[in-house]
This record gives sequence, structure tokens and C-alpha cells, in this order.
Amino acid sequence: MSSPAKTAEKTSLTPADYKGRVKPIWCPGCGDFGVLNAITRSLAALGIEPRRLALASGIGCSSRIPGFVNCYGFHGAHGRALPVAVGIKLANPRLTVLALGGDGDGLSIGIGHFPHVARRNLDITYIMMDNRIYGLTKGQTSPTTLEGRRTKTSPAGALEQPLNPVELAVIFNATYVARGYSANLKELQDLITRGIQHRGFSMVHVLSPCVTFGKGSGFDYFGPRTKPLPDDHDPRDRQQALLRSAVEETIYTGVFYETERAEYVEQIQAIGSGVGRELDEDGPRIEVDRLIQRFS
Ligand code: SF4
Repeated sequence: MSSPAKTAEKTSLTPADYKGRVKPIWCPGCGDFGVLNAITRSLAALGIEPRRLALASGIGCSSRIPGFVNCYGFHGAHGRALPVAVGIKLANPRLTVLALGGDGDGLSIGIGHFPHVARRNLDITYIMMDNRIYGLTKGQTSPTTLEGRRTKTSPAGALEQPLNPVELAVIFNATYVARGYSANLKELQDLITRGIQHRGFSMVHVLSPCVTFGKGSGFDYFGPRTKPLPDDHDPRDRQQALLRSAVEETIYTGVFYETERAEYVEQIQAIGSGVGRELDEDGPRIEVDRLIQRFS
């Protein structure tokens, strides 16, 4: 777990304030650069100090993000971004918590966590960077690979139906569901900002091409297909969100669905839990060094 450099009493923040000590090691042109950019711009616009921010991830190229950002970060086990994020939020509800990862991480080994975090409506933001391939392990079929697409593990073309992350999030009762494209920075920044501001579980699906192994789902594929949701789209209409999430010839971006429901920490505090009540301004009064020594 990395810890942030404390930001001196600044009245305004810039994306540079979130620059970590480690430079991104993604391939040049990887879609994840755009996502990282959009995230740091959103955080700066919202004025969230690095010491009030925690990022949790699983395993994969996109899951490396916590290492590149100046804040609290936890690069967890494969598929476990969400449970780690939940643990952080319950330990210190005052933190802004983001869970990050790819399509393989979140929809394969990690998919069991997705519906439960969504239905619980804990106030965290899940950013899923979808390149429709396993990039870190060099190009195998992932749960979002389109049927018929050739990969290293599907030389005759993928046989399975792909999962649709936006559709799943709506079905799982997430209270904010959006889709962005890593090449459309301004829109993506706005979607992430709105997701962080949303009180409850927010999910932002990002089309984030792998330029090294993502043949057939690169910028040349998504560029001509992505379009903002039509003006008549009503984010309160669940059926409309489901219908418009599923189109592939045109891949819509924007806020598909948003609703209000009681947030989890508020609910458990209302029934008498002490979660979050014993915290002082800087978080839990735990001597982390002693804790690490005890378990190492
Ligand atoms: Fe990005 Fe693909 Fe390179 Fe991974 S392998 S860093 S997803 S371009």
C-alpha cells in the first residue's frame, strides 16, 4: 500500500498534484493514458486532496494505475479491486474511494463482487477500462471479446457471447452507470466527475483500446462507432438504458442510468453501527506500522 505525499495547504489543485513517483509503463498510445488523464483532471476539478483519496485495483495493465497516482493506493489480487475498495470505504468513509481495473479483472474472476457492491450502494466509483482483450498476458480472449474475433486463445474466432458491462451494471442495480471513450477526454472527465459526485455506487465503463494486442477493437474500431447518447435519452428510464447499452454498430457514450437510493454507510450508521464515527480528521486512529509488523 502506497501513501500520498501530503499536499500543503493549497486552495486549488491541478492534475500535476496527483502525479505519482512512478511513471506509467504502458505501451505508447495505450488507451489507459487517456483514462489516467481524465481521472486526475476530475480529481483536481473536484478539489479532492491526495490524502483524502484512495485507489484500489486488481491485476492487469489498467490495474497499475494506483502506482502512478499520488494518493493512498492498493494494487490487489486479480479480480479483487471491489472488495478492497469496500474495505477501505468502510474503514474510513471520509475518503473518496475509486476501484479500477479491466474487463478481464472485473468480469472474469472478479465478477462475483460486482452485483453485491452495486446492490449495496456503497459510495465508491468503479472505473472499468475495457480493451476487450487480456493485454498484460499478451492477447487472450476476455469476457468482452466479440464473438468471432480471433485472439491467441481463439484462433478460429471467439465462440462465446460477450458480456456488456453497462447492461450488467444496470441489471445489478447500480445507481449511476456511464460509458466513456478514452480518446474523448472531456466527456470522460465529466462522466467520472459526475460519478464521484454521485452519492452511492457509480460505475463508469471506459472503452480503452489496447494498441499492442487489441487488433479489431482499437481506436480505428471505436472511433467511428462511438456517439453520445441521443438528446432524448432519459437517465431515469431503466429500460431505455438497457436498450441503448446493447447496440454495437453505434456504441453510445454518456450517462445511461442514474437514480437515488439510500447509501450503505448511511444505512448502517442509522441502525447504530459506529462505522466512521470514531475517525478524526485524518482518518482511523490506527498505528499502521505496528499493524504491518504484526502481519509481516
Ligand atoms: Fe496498454 Fe495493451 Fe500495452 Fe497493456 S499491452 S499497456 S493494454 S497497449
